Amino acid sequence: MALIITDDCINCDVCEPECPNEAIFVGVEIYEIDPKKCTECVGHYDEPQCQQVCPVDCIPLDPANVENEEQLMEKYHQLTG
Ligand code: SF4
Ligand code: SF4
Repeated sequence: MALIITDDCINCDVCEPECPNEAIFVGVEIYEIDPKKCTECVGHYDEPQCQQVCPVDCIPLDPANVENEEQLMEKYHQLTG
């Protein structure tokens, strides 16, 4: 499952550099996550790094992008080549 940034985002810029997959980018109004690049940090870290640093706790799992651990690991391998 990818994560998603809700409109509670205050554009603090803290999460973007923490993402090991460069999945976080500046959207039209707030930061956004590319679900094709987000692995929930699987392959890199035990916990989603963006969630760890977000001061307003606005990065939940995205129910529209459900994936299991195996799929996330496969995505990690695709991204890292
Ligand atoms: S969970 Fe990890 S891979 Fe996904 S957006 Fe957050 S920091 Fe990036
Ligand atoms: S850390 Fe949270 S509040 Fe800050 S830019 Fe990222 S999603 Fe928005």
